[in-house]
Amino acid sequence: MYNNISKKVVAITGASSGIGEAAARLLAANGAHVVLGARRRDRLEAAVKAIRAEGGSAEYQALDVTSREQMEAFIGFAKDKFGHVDVIVNNAGVMPLSKLEALKVDEWDRMIDVNIRGVLHGIAAGLPIMQKQGFGQFINVASIGAYGVVPTAAVYSATKYAVRAITDGLRQEVGNGIRVTLVSPGVTESELADHISDEEARQQMKEYRRISISAAAVARTILFAMEQPEEVDVNEIIVRPTASSN
Ligand code: NDP
Repeated sequence: MYNNISKKVVAITGASSGIGEAAARLLAANGAHVVLGARRRDRLEAAVKAIRAEGGSAEYQALDVTSREQMEAFIGFAKDKFGHVDVIVNNAGVMPLSKLEALKVDEWDRMIDVNIRGVLHGIAAGLPIMQKQGFGQFINVASIGAYGVVPTAAVYSATKYAVRAITDGLRQEVGNGIRVTLVSPGVTESELADHISDEEARQQMKEYRRISISAAAVARTILFAMEQPEEVDVNEIIVRPTASSN
């Protein structure tokens, strides 16, 4: 079987839970060297330990994606450790939903900082390395919120529309050995909705999020985009639960 995953160096942000952690596990099980980044060091350490126990290759470095310096250090760590960087999965994200009238401006800023600036920092840190190497792949995790808006999700969706725009712009600009992929999940089991502080939005999400797919299912779409031959660039994937329109 064709394997375009083995020995690839893959840096994953937001790898301490949910989709990022599932992707790290799946890619490591398929022979990649995975480098996990997020803020919760204990969770990263546990994930790396579990991957190694299954015979996989994994490292971690604590990372706040809102800091350009920390992102540079994170991608630099992956490159120093393995000599090059094949894939950057810009996955870290937050979703504190609320109606605009609730004026949770700090949470708006947080979403902009993590979901947009975090992705841009990943591109800023990785693009020069990939251009020098002449190869690489960015896999940016957006959302079905990048394709439509629902009440309470105006700012979250705006950040994901931005990720979609940035990703497509990057694709058009780079080419030449560098692949660019947008993965947009629908409702997925993870810790994402646990941090919604607005009571009304929290209640609404209970029904909206009733039917979900596993984080492992989204990880498989990341693997699919990676494992295609280098001349094939999977640009956009939307993956939702079969039994739900969300
Ligand atoms: P989780 O909440 O389980 O994971 C989010 C990850 O992002 C965690 O590892 C968290 O780690 C990390 N993170 C948050 N803030 C920062 C930061 N400032 N710096 C570094 N890492 C950070 O949710 P998901 O796995 O669901 O989310 C992953 C991505 O998938 C997000 O971009 C989300 O928007 C997207 N998505 C999820 C959907 C879903 O239904 N679950 C649907 C559509 C898209 P830590 O707290 O340790 O820093």
